[in-house]
Amino acid sequence: MQGANEYMSPNELQHESNFNGTIFIKSSKGCSPLERDKISYIRPASQSELVDAIKRLNELNRTPQKIVTVGAFSSFEFPQLNLVGQGDDQPDYPRKINSKYLVIDMSGMNKILHLDKISLTVTVEAGITYWELANQLRVKGLAVANLSAYPEVTVGGGSGTGTHGSGYAFHGKNQADQFISMEVVNARGEVQRIVDPRLFTHLGVLGVVTSITMRCIPMFYLKQTCYEFPDLDTFDNLRIGAFRELADNEDFYSTMMRIDLVDKRHHPLKCYIRRVATDANDHEYQPTFLGAPLVKNEDGEEPFVFTGPYYDVLPDHTTASRKKIPEPGTYHQAEYFVDNRLASEAVHAFLSEADKDHSFIEALPTGLKCRFVSSDDQWMSPTAKIDGVALYLAFQLSLYGSRAEIDSILKRIEQCFSDRKIEFSCHWGKLCRQGHATVNGKFKDRAKAMNVARIQLDPDNAFLDVGSELAKLFVS
Ligand SMILES: Cc1cc2nc3c(=O)[nH]c(=O)nc-3n(C[C@H](O)[C@H](O)[C@H](O)COP(=O)(O)OP(=O)(O)OC[C@H]3O[C@@H](n4cnc5c(N)ncnc54)[C@H](O)[C@@H]3O)c2cc1C
Repeated sequence: MQGANEYMSPNELQHESNFNGTIFIKSSKGCSPLERDKISYIRPASQSELVDAIKRLNELNRTPQKIVTVGAFSSFEFPQLNLVGQGDDQPDYPRKINSKYLVIDMSGMNKILHLDKISLTVTVEAGITYWELANQLRVKGLAVANLSAYPEVTVGGGSGTGTHGSGYAFHGKNQADQFISMEVVNARGEVQRIVDPRLFTHLGVLGVVTSITMRCIPMFYLKQTCYEFPDLDTFDNLRIGAFRELADNEDFYSTMMRIDLVDKRHHPLKCYIRRVATDANDHEYQPTFLGAPLVKNEDGEEPFVFTGPYYDVLPDHTTASRKKIPEPGTYHQAEYFVDNRLASEAVHAFLSEADKDHSFIEALPTGLKCRFVSSDDQWMSPTAKIDGVALYLAFQLSLYGSRAEIDSILKRIEQCFSDRKIEFSCHWGKLCRQGHATVNGKFKDRAKAMNVARIQLDPDNAFLDVGSELAKLFVS
């Protein structure tokens, strides 16, 4: 029999806690998957290493009861799990991944496996981050068209939650919309190929995603401009104007808005517009937009106006994501999606709640970020094309404070949308107050179809916890 540590990668786990230090993998130093009662992990360097390890565990009758795959571990929620500590009266208490889980750390699977410059497709190991991928593609003159505000996420992990960028059409969609196929490994060590795009928002429940084939495009540069508008009255003109601009100008790439919460009377807003640049030296910026002047860069602040490779321009330069990692438990993210046709009503509902006291200002010092996400055809995408929605307005919330403080803000937001009968969904990888199964309840018919596919791919139910938010939705 082989030694107990044979499946341990020489490296430690890449992350022992998630991005904001609220979910922990209990320390796994010195134990292996063969030690039943301790939490254990595998950090495979390839699909075959993963398959061999799982098959060997099965031969030894040590089939893992439960498996969880971790990408860059940047999510704030894992709705397929029942995290220890969840649901108790101490929401600030760090939650732990239950020790019955075999944790698959994907950070060792970070290579490009195949690149086809003719068909513009690339096959990658699922643990590669968008940042690594973008940098490696650049050398070949290629690019990923669709990047989120945080390119440090992995290609496999981003598609687990329906991660999106901001913009319109291809650029602003769910990242998994650029996928062509995925390979997954189940608890028996079987490799299966998924080509049905409806399954690409996989929620971590279809098995370990080991490789992904996706489209790429020629390398491009972007220039960002930012215009400040004195009050919220311009919001609708701006929203519509920005998209008219999009239709009229081929170089238009994406837009995003940030609404100030401090000035309750006017709620001035900044509109960020990204256009395709000819190269890194293209510094010709449109001086006004719908009558508003260009915001000037100040020393030490986020850069408002600049040009660079697309992967330098698209990340959000304001929030904690670009600064030092905050103290554990003090930074959180939540994100709600509303049909863009209800954007104005939803923003006004949000602001009238925010204006009631000072707590929103404290929790959201960088304001209300509004992004635009085109709908897609994936069953479990939080921005799926349901009820004819073509475009979603995303309320992207970078929240500072304790979990209890944040919970009370989220409760008020969800309530103010419900009171006005504004339907909304939420990001799978971020916080919500009522639970993902409730907030994303409108996906329940799709969840049934997803569940059928899940059971075929994972007949051992190794990737889904009974009683988790997702399980509630699958059986509702
Ligand atoms: C600072 C910051 C900024 C962000 N900005 C954005 C943004 O602009 N837009 C947006 O939509 N989201 C954003 N997010 C959320 C983030 O993109 C998602 O939570 C994303 O899913 C995280 O990817 P990851 O690689 O860290 O995966 P993880 O957080 O490790 O995992 C995410 C899910 O996928 C599963 N999983 C991971 N890898 C695999 C795999 N290989 N096989 C099977 N299952 C797997 C996990 O079990 C989990 O369910 C941001 C997060 C942070 C921390």
